[in-house]
This record gives sequence, structure tokens and C-alpha cells, in this order.
Amino acid sequence: MTHTSRKTLLLTPGPLTVSDRVRGAMMRDWGARDPAFVALTRRVIDGLLRISGADARHAAIPLQGSGTFAVEAMLRACGAGPGKTLILVNGAYGRRMADICRTAGLAHDVHEMPEDQPVDPAALRALLGARSDLSRVAVVHCETTSGLLNPIEQIAGTCHAAGRALLIDAMSSFGALPVDINALNATAIAASSNKCLQGVPGIGFVLCRRDALVGGGPVVLDLAAQLRGFDTDGQWRFTPPTHVVAALAEALDELADEGGSAARLARYRRNVAVLSQGMRALGFVTLLPDAVQAPIIVSFREPEEAWFDFQRFYDGLDQRGFMIYAGKMRALRSFRVGAIGQVFPEDMERFLEAVKAVIAELRATG
Ligand SMILES: *Cc1c(COP(=O)(O)O)cnc(C)c1O
Repeated sequence: MTHTSRKTLLLTPGPLTVSDRVRGAMMRDWGARDPAFVALTRRVIDGLLRISGADARHAAIPLQGSGTFAVEAMLRACGAGPGKTLILVNGAYGRRMADICRTAGLAHDVHEMPEDQPVDPAALRALLGARSDLSRVAVVHCETTSGLLNPIEQIAGTCHAAGRALLIDAMSSFGALPVDINALNATAIAASSNKCLQGVPGIGFVLCRRDALVGGGPVVLDLAAQLRGFDTDGQWRFTPPTHVVAALAEALDELADEGGSAARLARYRRNVAVLSQGMRALGFVTLLPDAVQAPIIVSFREPEEAWFDFQRFYDGLDQRGFMIYAGKMRALRSFRVGAIGQVFPEDMERFLEAVKAVIAELRATG
């Protein structure tokens, strides 16, 4: 097969392998100002509101760009009031929120913990009790750096009890793990089209309290201005990624047809169980204890034996139709394998067979 016709399964943190159904939704061209496209945008906005438990106090605001565009828009719009934002950091995406606040001149403090340890709600409670200047808390739900799951319900309960606003980067969890803006009393949530919603890349979005859009941003990331557009004439302010919107609308229908987020989460959990158990049987070590492992992406320690070379391992899997991801944890040499997207336990079984074959090849030729 040629490289272009070959079907590679992306076992990465996004973009992901999407279904033919979602890919097929991009085969039509749309006029950006046409009523049909305005209706399509509305369908996406309503779908996002529905699956996040939102009510009339909330808005869903899609933006052109990748997920980080939405995180920056959220921090600039909702992280600008009096007091500081406390950023809880246990991975690269938490550090990125701190970078955004620093660059944007937003008052913030960073509370950093090791990359393999979830946020401790008791420590957060103590910190918030001691520091009245911390008006808001920002946290990453699933730290895709490692695959670590932060205890969002407990963090949210702690923030609510302490009367602090909560901003969540739910990029790699939204659509699968429960992220209910009302149940969490969250002020804002940022996510994107191309992770657990199983759309294609190109849209980030912020779900938020309408009364929380207090800050401005650069013109292109101004959430309040974009919300005014959607509220008044249903239009995007700048050229919308029309085909990506169409794919996301289809992906939201597909999610409902699968049985909603709970069914998708159950599938991802099965994927991770097959993957982790199978890789352990082949001698690999997972970097996180199962108790804090999110059912999204798994980090494995690089074997220290002489045969292992990440590039050759990667290439061998790529030749067999699987794309894995380099590691991102600071302290350890590792690689990651994603369990999200249009991927099923049978795919994980096939992946394990491929890993076995690549190990044999590398041992024989190393
Ligand atoms: C993917 C991801 C992002 C956004 O990354 P982009 O490359 O901008 O799409 C942000 N936070 C987390 C936790 C992510 O997994």
C-alpha cells in the first residue's frame, strides 16, 4: 500500500483516528454566512451545552484553533477579575496555563507537585484557607503529559466550599469522563474538537458562566465578543473552519448514538485494560499506579535493555499501522500509547501483536 492509502491507527493524545462517518461529513462545502451553516453552528453549540450539564446561565463558545487557543481565551476572559488565579501544576499542560498567565500579565500563583501525583484536595483546602488573595483555581482534569487523573469532583467541592472560582482544562477528558459544569460548580471549562469528542482538529471551545467573561483578550480570542456574535446573528466573527464544524456536529451525533459519554468511557476503559495488561505481560512497566491512571493515555517506561531504541520501536509500529507518541514526563524516559478515538479493544489486541513482532525484530537485529 502507498503511504497515503495506508490506514494508520493513531494511538496518540490527539488528533485521533476518527470514524468514516465523521470524515465523510467533511465532503460538502458550506457558505460561512449561509443560514444552513448558522444552523449547523447552533447544533454544535447546543450539543456542547447538552453534554456538559449546562443551563441558561451558561454559554458554549467555539473558537478557531487548537485546544490551547481555548485555554488561553478562557484564562484571559475568566482569569482577569480581582485577586489571583492559583494554577495547580502536575504536568506540561498545567505549566502551559502558567505560561499563558505570565505572558498575558494575569495575576497568578503556581502550586506545583510531582508529575505522578494527583492534586491533594486537603492540601488545596489548606492553601485556600490561608490565602484570601487566591480568587480562582485553574487545573487540568486529565494531565495528558502522563495520563494522570486529577480528582476533579473533590477539587471542585473544595473550591466551591471555599467560595473560589474554578477553571478547568478538560481537553483530554471532555466527552468521555463526566465533566458537568453544574455539578462541579465550575466557572469555565476548555476543551477541543479532536479528543474524546472524536472530531477532527481545528476547534477549541469554552463552556462558561455567562457572567464570568470579565476580561478581554487579543481580538481573535475575545470570548465575550464571539459570544455576542453567536447570540445576535449566530455567526462566527472570522472565517469559520466550516468542514471542522460539520465533522464536530456529526461527531456529537455519533457520541449520542454510541450511548453518550458513559458508553464511550466504558469503551476507553476496556481499551486501557487490554493495553496495560498486555504491555505488562510483554514486560513493560506503566509509570502511574492504576488508581490515578485516567482511561485516556498510558505512559510506559522505556525498557533499559540494549535492544530498545525509541525511534526504531516507533518505526516498527508505524510500519505495522500504529502510531504511538513520545513521552513527555520530565523525570523519566518514557513513551505513551493513547486509548481514545475510534479505537476498540480488538485494535488494542492487534497493537499488542505488533509490539510483540517489533520486539522480536529489534532483538534479532539490534
Ligand atoms: C491536547 C491538550 C491541550 C491542547 O493542546 P493543543 O495542541 O493546543 O490542541 C491542552 N491541555 C491538555 C490537557 C491536552 O491534553
